[in-house]
Amino acid sequence: MYKAKAYAALSAASPLAPHTIERREPTPTDVRIEILFCGVCHSDLHLVRDEWNAAMPAVYPVVPGHEIVGRVSAVGSAVTRYRAGDLVGVGCQVDSDGTCPDCRAGHEQLCANSVLTYNSPDKHTGGVTYGGYSESVVVDERFVVHIPTNLDPAGAAPLLCAGITTYAPLRRQGVGRGTRVGVVGLGGLGHMGVKLAHAMGAEVHVLTTSARKREDAHRLGADGVIVTHNAEEMARYAGHFDVILDTVSAAHDLNTYLGLLRHHGNLTLVGIPEQPFVISAFTLLSGERSIAGSVNGGLPQTQEMLNFCGEHNITADVEVIAIHEVNEAYERLSKADVKYRFVIDMASLKG
Ligand code: NAP
Ligand code: ZN
Repeated sequence: MYKAKAYAALSAASPLAPHTIERREPTPTDVRIEILFCGVCHSDLHLVRDEWNAAMPAVYPVVPGHEIVGRVSAVGSAVTRYRAGDLVGVGCQVDSDGTCPDCRAGHEQLCANSVLTYNSPDKHTGGVTYGGYSESVVVDERFVVHIPTNLDPAGAAPLLCAGITTYAPLRRQGVGRGTRVGVVGLGGLGHMGVKLAHAMGAEVHVLTTSARKREDAHRLGADGVIVTHNAEEMARYAGHFDVILDTVSAAHDLNTYLGLLRHHGNLTLVGIPEQPFVISAFTLLSGERSIAGSVNGGLPQTQEMLNFCGEHNITADVEVIAIHEVNEAYERLSKADVKYRFVIDMASLKG
């Protein structure tokens, strides 16, 4: 074990503050990574404040962070895919059993024994896993990905969660040229959804509560913007979309969005509000529409998404912050005031 500097929340009511954690020495299959940048996902905020309650209880101290980009500083004797100096990423998972049908299919995120990057039982330490708001991390090479070297490392960090979480359902729904995609919520996930769907060749509309984001939405690649509290704008798009990707982090009425789907259209939920939804059976069945859920993505598809982003030169639009600014960033995130992902420069932890 070695000691590493980190930022942690000690309770649901306390701000994030400096904290020292223990990391394991690399086992033969491990990679040690010195973290350069870590994105701030709304899931970090939900969990730090224990907003998901029994569905995913927070175990304090919580060291969040699952959008990690860093440099390999050491590798175990059996590691084959990485060596010191490589620019690499770590996303939402750091382990799984590797043997179940989901793991064998490359869907590690669905494995019953999947270990999340933070707040999951850690078989190595006996405690819980600690995430990327830290100077370094040690991860099995199966859960490490290569970052294309043409991408800016700070802008690439959000690809590890916001990128794959939007890429996976867009691919699953067969999004491409001719597909009409609606992205609900223009935050971290939403703005990646817009960039990725646009790069896949789809027609993309942003559905937003924030009229002030209209210009940004167009700049990010949207063909149109619908301000969702404007009933006239909403009515104009009834039955328009093949796919709606819902990235909203708070309670909202799904039925108003379902009506915008064409017959047999699909709404995929990626946002995780703390409250359950109320669904009108009539709205669903009158158009034989479907609702699905999607959770980040497996390792093969994460690497595929990173390669796609490398080819299309796609990164997140980021506000780079020092780690002591993270509590202020959480306040802004809770007010949907982010352009469009906060990313922590981990060099600020050393100062
Ligand atoms: P974010 O940056 O805060 O963006 C969320 C956006 O939702 C806001 O920018 C806002 O967009 C919209 N919004 C917020 N409150 C709303 C309300 N009351 N009604 C309607 N719209 C509202 O958050 P994020 O990091 O993208 O994460 C979004 C959600 O996805 C979170 O719940 C997070 O936990 C979840 N998540 C899920 C996965 C997964 O694997 N499924 C992975 C990562 C994150 P507008 O201003 O445009 O309306
Ligand atoms: Zn996330």
